[in-house]
Amino acid sequence: MTNEADPSALLREVGALMDGHFRLSSGRHSPVYVEKFRLLQDPKATERLCRLIADRFRDDRPELVAGPTTGGIILSYEVARLLGRRGIFAERAERGRDFQRGFQVRPGERTLIVDDILTTGGSIREVIEAVRRAKGDPIGVGVLVDRSGGRTEFGLPLFACVELDLTTYAEGSCPLCDAGAPLTVT
Ligand SMILES: [Zn+2]
Repeated sequence: MTNEADPSALLREVGALMDGHFRLSSGRHSPVYVEKFRLLQDPKATERLCRLIADRFRDDRPELVAGPTTGGIILSYEVARLLGRRGIFAERAERGRDFQRGFQVRPGERTLIVDDILTTGGSIREVIEAVRRAKGDPIGVGVLVDRSGGRTEFGLPLFACVELDLTTYAEGSCPLCDAGAPLTVT
């Protein structure tokens, strides 16, 4: 693999980060599109980025890794594997998220929260709350891509393998449209 030192190049190499002219589900136009499962289907590439998260938090001695469904299932497993710890995931519940399937958080357990793409931080906040309800101790947040432009605050150390400031455009005032670039509907 040629992109050991450059996570965003790795994301482009596996097709998870695409450059072009995209119509997002919000209706806005964007020069960049992220398809996380293009990465998550590739075990070697996923391991490479998860290792950055594991290495960043190893000295903080996490005892448990937890993420939200769906991508967080894969990420919590892989980061936990690299740290030699348990990896669990929180599912949607009536209110927020909770740990089902017999998963347990021990009182005071030092828990690293992981997720794939940080957009608004809603899912991650729900996992933090689920850990706290179980009397666990959230110690940090690790994500593959922060596309919130560094604007999200959890009150915990945050590490992103890649930071993207995604500028999007309203239909009708899009420079890519003005340039006649072909539009891909996502
Ligand atoms: Zn456009």
